[in-house]
Amino acid sequence: MDRNSAEENSRARRVKRNILTNMIVIPLVPLFLAVGISFYYFTTALENSSTNSLKRIVGDHRDMIESFLVERKSDLEMVTRLFDFEKINSSQVIDNMFGVLKTKSGAFIDLGLFDSRGLHVRYSGQYQLTGKLYSDEFWFKEVMEKGRYISDVFLGYRNVPHFIIAVKKGDGKNAWVLRATIDTLYFDRLVSSVRIGTSGEAYILNKKGIAQTGRRSGGVNVMEKDPEFSAFPSSDSSIHTFLKSDHQGVEYLYATTWLKDLEWLLVVRQEKKDAFRFFYYALYASLVIMVLGIAIIVGMSFFMTEKLFMRMEQLGRDKKDLGNQLIRATQLAEVGEMAAGFAHEINNPLQIIRSEYALVVSVLNEMFEKNKISAGDEDIVEIQDSLSQIELQVSRCSDITRAILKFGRKNETRVQLLYPAAEIPEILKMIEQKASVEGIAVFQRISEDLPGFMGDASQFQQVMLNLFNNAIDAVMEQHPDAGGRLDIQAQLKDEKWIEIRVTDNGAGIQPENIEKVFSPFFTTKPVGKGTGLGLSVCYGIIENFGGTMDVTSRENEGTTFIVTLPKAEEKEQDQ
Ligand code: ADP
Repeated sequence: MDRNSAEENSRARRVKRNILTNMIVIPLVPLFLAVGISFYYFTTALENSSTNSLKRIVGDHRDMIESFLVERKSDLEMVTRLFDFEKINSSQVIDNMFGVLKTKSGAFIDLGLFDSRGLHVRYSGQYQLTGKLYSDEFWFKEVMEKGRYISDVFLGYRNVPHFIIAVKKGDGKNAWVLRATIDTLYFDRLVSSVRIGTSGEAYILNKKGIAQTGRRSGGVNVMEKDPEFSAFPSSDSSIHTFLKSDHQGVEYLYATTWLKDLEWLLVVRQEKKDAFRFFYYALYASLVIMVLGIAIIVGMSFFMTEKLFMRMEQLGRDKKDLGNQLIRATQLAEVGEMAAGFAHEINNPLQIIRSEYALVVSVLNEMFEKNKISAGDEDIVEIQDSLSQIELQVSRCSDITRAILKFGRKNETRVQLLYPAAEIPEILKMIEQKASVEGIAVFQRISEDLPGFMGDASQFQQVMLNLFNNAIDAVMEQHPDAGGRLDIQAQLKDEKWIEIRVTDNGAGIQPENIEKVFSPFFTTKPVGKGTGLGLSVCYGIIENFGGTMDVTSRENEGTTFIVTLPKAEEKEQDQ
């Protein structure tokens, strides 16, 4: 037995584990797939959109810087178109022109005029550069050769980082050059004005990787070499994006493009975690969804499995109970059959006693008539008392045997008109003795003219007996010695319904149990005493009769069961 239950337990645990695993794994697969696929597509789209937006910003920024340089060059070309060398070669004209240029753009910081030999003939600005010879300067050679030139940032005579825009007019000995210096601070601000996220920045490098503007986040100042330059893509005019870590290990998303005829490289970069912050939000959201999903699935699986198993265990217990009830019911049926047999057997001797009694009475009467005995004789009186006791007890015995026989015939249901006033007192007789032994007073108030209802007599007897027995049990619990009371009341409730009330002053029903009393197997009685089936069967019987059963109770005060039955139709009443 022990071995069997240990095996059963371990099988139950195995089944439970399997169910739990399946309940967890099966919903997890679609969850992972759904979150994984949506995460992949969502983040790819986000990555593309971050990269594309950086590309767009670089393109716009490049166009803006290019047009700034082109405009400044055009400003100078406009001046060279307006004047020839003789006319412009005057301090006043140069000063005036510088004033005009400054009104066009705050980026100009000085303006100078050079003759074909490279001699700085006129100058308007804050440095003393007039008279200096520039024939060997790189920029001068370039402008003389190409006609226009925009330099990289250099120190020059003034020893301050700057870059120049120079345009040439005329040829050979008549050639002259107009040169303007661009404020590097102004240009720096222009280039770095780009705003992308919190860490986005823009700067310009020349072909050798020397910074033409400073880097906002530091590390590379104007005219310093960018240590990352060698890793940047080689020159072509398209926009490149790539990820790269700096020497401190911070990863950046870069976008680069060449400008100024592939002379300068515009670099825009943004910290990767800043550029892809929405990507990270999506990642966190997916993780949170996943963790929550897993927690809910695991929690629900545990809860459901536990509930399922509790239910299964309950069903198992109910099954066992049902088996036991069945065995007990079979035993009861057998006892019932035996009781019916006994009753039948006892009936015959009772008939004989009764006829013998009748014989004794008639002999006594005869003896009276013949004056053999006198009515006042003490012995005779005693005999007469004994005889009436015999008559009383014999008729009680036959009542009981009749009731047992009636109860035993329960399988053949026969619906007939039943009158409470006739049926109830009969049934009460069966428990009267038990009640009086227990000191319980039984009262009945049944209207004699109460109409009948349609039902099976033995089933009705079963219902009433069950109610009376339950009431006696409850009363015995509350009043073990005396003071118990059982009231049976039957009356017309309204023109359609008959109401039978069985009231006791017993222990009552606890409020939390009141809903359960009609449920099968609900019992508060000790094992072996109560089956918990009585009231549920009664309920079914009364429902079959077309009626209802109800209960009201107060703990420690008493209980009333109310059976409501439909009054039989007029034509049925007459049967
Ligand atoms: P059983 O009598 O076998 O327990 P029943 O279905 O007849 O089964 O009754 C179910 C339960 O209802 C009882 O165990 C008892 O707790 C409660 N009960 C029934 N009648 C009364 C009553 N008159 N007073 C108090 N409790 C009652």
